[in-house]
Amino acid sequence: MDKAKEKILISSCLLGQPVRYDGQTKELQNPTLNHWLAEGRLEPVCPEVMGGLPVPRPAAEIQGSADDVLTGMGHVTTKDNSDVSQFFLCGAQHALKLCRQHNIRIAILKENSPSCGSTHVPDGSFNGRLIPGEGVTARLLRQNGIRVYSENKICEAAANVDSPAEITG
Ligand code: SF4
Repeated sequence: MDKAKEKILISSCLLGQPVRYDGQTKELQNPTLNHWLAEGRLEPVCPEVMGGLPVPRPAAEIQGSADDVLTGMGHVTTKDNSDVSQFFLCGAQHALKLCRQHNIRIAILKENSPSCGSTHVPDGSFNGRLIPGEGVTARLLRQNGIRVYSENKICEAAANVDSPAEITG
Protein backbone atom coordinates (compact mmCIF):
# COMPACT_ATOMS: atom_id res chain seq x y z
CA MET A 1 0.00 0.00 0.00
CA ASP A 2 1.17 3.53 -0.75
CA LYS A 3 1.30 4.95 2.77
CA ALA A 4 1.47 8.52 1.44
CA LYS A 5 -2.10 8.13 0.29
CA GLU A 6 -3.31 6.14 3.25
CA LYS A 7 -6.92 7.09 3.96
CA ILE A 8 -8.39 7.78 7.38
CA LEU A 9 -12.05 7.30 8.29
CA ILE A 10 -13.60 10.24 10.12
CA SER A 11 -16.97 11.06 11.64
CA SER A 12 -18.75 13.39 9.22
CA CYS A 13 -19.86 15.75 11.99
CA LEU A 14 -16.22 16.51 12.84
CA LEU A 15 -15.76 17.82 9.30
CA GLY A 16 -18.65 20.23 9.66
CA GLN A 17 -21.42 18.19 8.14
CA PRO A 18 -24.72 18.88 9.98
CA VAL A 19 -25.62 15.23 10.49
CA ARG A 20 -26.04 15.00 14.24
CA TYR A 21 -29.35 13.91 15.74
CA ASP A 22 -30.19 17.56 16.45
CA GLY A 23 -29.22 18.72 12.95
CA GLN A 24 -26.04 20.31 14.22
CA THR A 25 -22.37 19.71 13.49
CA LYS A 26 -19.36 19.21 15.75
CA GLU A 27 -16.86 20.79 13.37
CA LEU A 28 -13.34 20.54 14.69
CA GLN A 29 -10.62 22.99 13.67
CA ASN A 30 -7.39 21.08 13.96
CA PRO A 31 -4.16 21.54 11.96
CA THR A 32 -3.61 17.82 11.56
CA LEU A 33 -7.12 17.30 10.24
CA ASN A 34 -6.68 20.25 7.90
CA HIS A 35 -3.43 18.72 6.64
CA TRP A 36 -5.06 15.36 6.04
CA LEU A 37 -8.04 17.04 4.38
CA ALA A 38 -5.74 18.89 1.97
CA GLU A 39 -4.02 15.59 1.18
CA GLY A 40 -7.35 13.98 0.37
CA ARG A 41 -6.89 11.37 3.04
CA LEU A 42 -10.14 11.81 4.96
CA GLU A 43 -13.05 9.50 4.24
CA PRO A 44 -16.11 10.90 6.06
CA VAL A 45 -18.91 8.73 7.36
CA CYS A 46 -21.96 9.23 9.53
CA PRO A 47 -22.95 5.72 10.52
CA GLU A 48 -26.39 6.73 11.75
CA VAL A 49 -27.32 8.51 8.52
CA MET A 50 -25.79 5.77 6.38
CA GLY A 51 -27.74 3.27 8.45
CA GLY A 52 -30.96 4.93 7.34
CA LEU A 53 -31.80 7.42 10.08
CA PRO A 54 -32.91 10.96 9.17
CA VAL A 55 -31.58 14.36 10.24
CA PRO A 56 -32.82 15.44 12.68
CA ARG A 57 -33.72 12.27 14.57
CA PRO A 58 -34.56 11.36 18.14
CA ALA A 59 -31.54 10.93 20.39
CA ALA A 60 -30.72 7.28 20.98
CA GLU A 61 -28.64 5.49 23.59
CA ILE A 62 -27.28 2.00 24.04
CA GLN A 63 -29.04 -0.24 26.54
CA GLY A 64 -26.31 -2.66 27.53
CA SER A 65 -22.99 -2.54 25.71
CA ALA A 66 -21.95 -2.23 22.08
CA ASP A 67 -20.93 -5.90 22.23
CA ASP A 68 -24.45 -6.71 23.39
CA VAL A 69 -25.92 -4.78 20.45
CA LEU A 70 -23.60 -6.49 17.97
CA THR A 71 -24.61 -9.92 19.27
CA GLY A 72 -28.32 -9.10 19.48
CA MET A 73 -28.32 -9.21 23.28
CA GLY A 74 -28.64 -5.45 23.73
CA HIS A 75 -30.42 -2.65 21.96
CA VAL A 76 -30.14 0.97 20.95
CA THR A 77 -33.33 2.81 21.84
CA THR A 78 -34.80 6.27 21.74
CA LYS A 79 -36.19 7.91 24.87
CA ASP A 80 -39.69 6.66 23.98
CA ASN A 81 -38.23 3.15 23.80
CA SER A 82 -38.29 2.70 20.03
CA ASP A 83 -35.68 0.12 19.05
CA VAL A 84 -33.32 1.60 16.47
CA SER A 85 -30.66 -1.09 16.76
CA GLN A 86 -30.95 -2.18 13.14
CA PHE A 87 -30.10 1.31 11.90
CA PHE A 88 -27.03 1.43 14.13
CA LEU A 89 -25.92 -2.04 13.04
CA CYS A 90 -26.43 -1.20 9.37
CA GLY A 91 -24.42 2.02 9.79
CA ALA A 92 -21.59 0.20 11.53
CA GLN A 93 -21.44 -2.32 8.70
CA HIS A 94 -21.35 0.50 6.18
CA ALA A 95 -18.39 2.09 8.00
CA LEU A 96 -16.55 -1.23 8.04
CA LYS A 97 -17.23 -1.67 4.33
CA LEU A 98 -15.73 1.75 3.64
CA CYS A 99 -12.62 0.79 5.63
CA ARG A 100 -12.23 -2.37 3.58
CA GLN A 101 -12.79 -0.58 0.28
CA HIS A 102 -10.08 1.99 1.05
CA ASN A 103 -7.68 -0.19 3.07
CA ILE A 104 -8.32 2.06 6.05
CA ARG A 105 -6.69 1.06 9.31
CA ILE A 106 -7.20 4.27 11.34
CA ALA A 107 -10.46 6.01 12.27
CA ILE A 108 -11.10 9.32 14.04
CA LEU A 109 -14.57 9.10 15.54
CA LYS A 110 -16.60 11.53 17.62
CA GLU A 111 -16.41 10.79 21.33
CA ASN A 112 -19.50 10.18 23.49
CA SER A 113 -21.73 9.01 20.62
CA PRO A 114 -23.66 5.71 20.75
CA SER A 115 -22.23 5.02 17.29
CA CYS A 116 -18.85 6.70 17.25
CA GLY A 117 -17.77 6.95 20.91
CA SER A 118 -14.45 5.21 21.48
CA THR A 119 -14.01 5.52 25.26
CA HIS A 120 -17.29 6.92 26.59
CA VAL A 121 -20.95 6.68 25.64
CA PRO A 122 -24.24 7.85 27.17
CA ASP A 123 -25.36 5.60 30.00
CA GLY A 124 -28.74 4.74 28.54
CA SER A 125 -30.77 6.86 30.93
CA PHE A 126 -31.13 9.94 28.67
CA ASN A 127 -29.97 12.10 31.56
CA GLY A 128 -26.76 13.32 29.96
CA ARG A 129 -24.54 10.97 31.91
CA LEU A 130 -21.60 9.21 30.28
CA ILE A 131 -20.08 5.85 31.14
CA PRO A 132 -16.94 4.10 29.89
CA GLY A 133 -17.77 2.20 26.73
CA GLU A 134 -17.78 2.20 22.95
CA GLY A 135 -20.33 3.05 20.33
CA VAL A 136 -21.59 0.35 17.99
CA THR A 137 -19.49 1.45 15.01
CA ALA A 138 -16.35 2.01 17.07
CA ARG A 139 -16.69 -1.47 18.57
CA LEU A 140 -17.25 -3.18 15.22
CA LEU A 141 -14.28 -1.42 13.65
CA ARG A 142 -12.01 -2.42 16.52
CA GLN A 143 -13.21 -5.99 16.30
CA ASN A 144 -11.99 -5.89 12.72
CA GLY A 145 -8.55 -4.48 13.43
CA ILE A 146 -9.19 -0.79 12.79
CA ARG A 147 -7.49 1.56 15.27
CA VAL A 148 -10.15 3.95 16.54
CA TYR A 149 -9.26 7.30 18.13
CA SER A 150 -11.46 10.10 19.40
CA GLU A 151 -11.12 13.71 18.27
CA ASN A 152 -9.18 14.20 21.53
CA LYS A 153 -6.48 11.73 20.44
CA ILE A 154 -5.55 13.01 17.01
CA CYS A 155 -1.87 13.23 18.00
CA GLU A 156 -1.89 9.53 18.84
CA ALA A 157 -3.59 8.73 15.56
CA ALA A 158 -1.08 10.88 13.67
CA ALA A 159 1.79 8.93 15.20
CA ASN A 160 0.48 5.88 13.37
CA VAL A 161 0.09 7.62 10.03
CA ASP A 162 3.02 8.45 7.79
CA SER A 163 4.62 11.93 7.93
CA PRO A 164 3.47 12.71 11.50
CA ALA A 165 6.50 14.94 12.20
CA GLU A 166 5.35 17.83 10.04
CA ILE A 167 1.92 18.12 11.60
CA THR A 168 0.71 18.91 15.08
CA GLY A 169 -2.43 18.87 17.12
FE1 SF4 B 1 -21.26 12.28 14.17
FE2 SF4 B 1 -21.04 9.63 14.41
FE3 SF4 B 1 -23.17 10.90 15.42
FE4 SF4 B 1 -22.90 10.70 12.78
S1 SF4 B 1 -23.19 9.00 14.19
S2 SF4 B 1 -23.48 12.55 13.90
S3 SF4 B 1 -20.70 10.86 12.53
S4 SF4 B 1 -21.05 11.13 16.08
